[in-house]
Amino acid sequence: MADLNPLRLDGRHILVTGASSGIGRRTALMLHALGASLSVVDRDEAGLASLDAEFCAGNGVARQVADLSDIAGIEELVSRCVAAGGKLHGVVHCAGIQEIMPVRTLQIDGWRRIFAVNTEAALMLGKCLSSKKVYAGHHGSIVFISSVMGMVGSAGAVAYSMSKAALDGMARSLSLELAPRGIRVNCIAPGFVRTPLFEQTERLWDEATRKAVEDLHPLGFGEAEDVAHAVAFLVADTGRWITGSTLVVDGGYLAR
Ligand code: NAD
Repeated sequence: MADLNPLRLDGRHILVTGASSGIGRRTALMLHALGASLSVVDRDEAGLASLDAEFCAGNGVARQVADLSDIAGIEELVSRCVAAGGKLHGVVHCAGIQEIMPVRTLQIDGWRRIFAVNTEAALMLGKCLSSKKVYAGHHGSIVFISSVMGMVGSAGAVAYSMSKAALDGMARSLSLELAPRGIRVNCIAPGFVRTPLFEQTERLWDEATRKAVEDLHPLGFGEAEDVAHAVAFLVADTGRWITGSTLVVDGGYLAR
């Protein structure tokens, strides 16, 4: 009997950024387990290399070390991915940075550093996928990892919130432009998810603050796998009628 699982990704080549750590890492492992071949991208070479031990079957995974804040270098990076693994069906942009920067200390290079990787790299990746030389021509799906911080405010997060709200807006317009080509474009907005990025922020909190933040999530803090499940849903045929959306995956954070 034919495999009727609409989450299967056999025969599809997906580029996953930020694959060395956290959400990107879990996403890469999940998409691979569902049958996709992958181009995994990160600036952390050792982190990428350590992925090999976790792929059940190491086939169909090409590693590309790159700093995505070098926006002008992304076209060449994507060409390398196509040369190594064939034309792409999708891109999942998980690479991102967050720095707590109160507005009085905010400097131009600080917000541009965040904006470059979180937002501008996403746009360049979307632009690249729209090219005939890159896009496989069917099952097109782009997923950007946004944040609830693009929808609600948080003191010290001006630059980060700006970068994520811009991503949500960009995805909506891009979805309209790329729909005729059969490429869907969506964002996922996670709440607080236990990853190395989260631990960086958590270290600044005392226990009372940690508990207060966790209590904002009726289902508690999330795990990287919770977001990876949502990515798989949007990349696969389960998401085939969804485009221009931001899917909130936040344990109820925004429900209040
Ligand atoms: P993480 O720090 O665990 O992983 C991020 C990865 O991106 C790392 O492997 C890092 O090396 C890579 N990266 C960062 N800058 C890069 C660059 N310039 N070039 C190439 N690679 C780069 O973080 P995470 O928590 O998994 O976050 C993944 C995404 O999810 C980010 O966009 C983040 O903003 C978003 N997000 C995270 C949370 C959370 O609570 N963890 C919540 C909402 C949104």
